[in-house]
Amino acid sequence: MSGPAPRQAPRRVAAEGLPAEVTVYEVGPRDGLQAETDVIPTAVKSELCARLYAAGSRALEVTSFVPPAWIPQLADARRVSASVRPPEGARAVALVPNRRGLDDALAAGMREVAVVVSATESFARANLNTDRAGAVARAVAVVDDARSAGIPVRGYVSMAFGDPWEGDVDIAAVVDAAVALHSAGCRTIALGDTIGVATAGHVEQVVEAVTDAGIPRSALALHLHDTYGQALANVLAGLRAGVTEFDASVGGLGRCPYAPGATGNLATEDLAWMLEGLGIRTGLDIPALARTSAWLAGVRGRPHASRVAHALTTTPEEHPA
Ligand code: MG
Repeated sequence: MSGPAPRQAPRRVAAEGLPAEVTVYEVGPRDGLQAETDVIPTAVKSELCARLYAAGSRALEVTSFVPPAWIPQLADARRVSASVRPPEGARAVALVPNRRGLDDALAAGMREVAVVVSATESFARANLNTDRAGAVARAVAVVDDARSAGIPVRGYVSMAFGDPWEGDVDIAAVVDAAVALHSAGCRTIALGDTIGVATAGHVEQVVEAVTDAGIPRSALALHLHDTYGQALANVLAGLRAGVTEFDASVGGLGRCPYAPGATGNLATEDLAWMLEGLGIRTGLDIPALARTSAWLAGVRGRPHASRVAHALTTTPEEHPA
């Protein structure tokens, strides 16, 4: 006789003061895969995107149009972009580091892009090949061009909660970067805990500082990593502070190459489990996400990092008695 099976959905118990629905912005194919060391075949990336849309993802960052010399893992950006088929009402987004990247993304048929700036000088120099002000100027130029082309832009502020070289990050620097992106016309500002060091009170503090500077809560997103096991607590702090968009990657794909020991993004199915448990609609099919993580782990020969996928795809015999 086999043992009891794990439950396949959370019990829904709504908490007061939380939104009825939120946007889960999927970054696995781009942020996740760019940080992994292995290079995934284009066909696998295309299938990953198709599986994510089929699992209910309505906001998917599919790739990045960076020079292949910078990130060989995403050298097939054009082919991946050409292969994605977002269902009606779903978004496909490409990260673009500069105007050349924007031109390439538009030529590949992308109709939404994202840009990145940094709250710290160290990350700007190490990852964006410029200084902090230079990164903002470059991003603003891309936003101008994209908006002229009628393309909405998402803006990331990296290292908004901590930096592996500089340690603590000045909140004023986060606010400056966020305001620059918002003023330029970015539709959403994603505050990035790139190395996963944020804690719940800190999240609340940064969200308040950014909203005090005039950015509406409805324009904010949180991009959280789970290095210290704080990502879901930080999501809850964000929800309570009025944030309604959260980034996640299926199976917790992605590491952080700038911080030894830092783990991947918050896993999409773990986030969805918490949100659905709070009675917040995500539109996501949690078992389908878990199967996607298990499938990709099998293809790659590497384990995924989602607790929910582990629970859902482990057979009763594998659970300890
Ligand atoms: Mg990330």
